[in-house]
Amino acid sequence: MVTTDADRELYERAVAIAKRAYAPYSSFHVGAAVRARDGRIFEGVNVENAAYPLGVCAEKSALTTAVTEGYKPGDLEAIAITASPCGGCRQWLVELKLDRVIYANNSGEVVAATPAELLPDTFAL
Ligand SMILES: [Zn+2]
Repeated sequence: MVTTDADRELYERAVAIAKRAYAPYSSFHVGAAVRARDGRIFEGVNVENAAYPLGVCAEKSALTTAVTEGYKPGDLEAIAITASPCGGCRQWLVELKLDRVIYANNSGEVVAATPAELLPDTFAL
């Protein structure tokens, strides 16, 4: 259950940006919004490709934008996603050391969890 106004606002940003998803094959539009510890917000959408494995998830899109802007693991506080993050994205959330993941679970309920709760015993080098 999402309880803070800041997390609700972040989720609303994710919902709003989902309209820009490029999803002509699945019609499954996903939005993500990442909030850095300094308050800056980065948004992302899923971008599909005719060669299906080449598609990019919304949360990866938002996270790569934040990293491109100079943000490092630990600089990002929370991410909101309009869908449950896939296994690969869960690994990204652990790697970038976010505190909290707000997402719509498969029942459509907006919930919050830590990356470790979403991916226990994570692979590490
Ligand atoms: Zn993913």
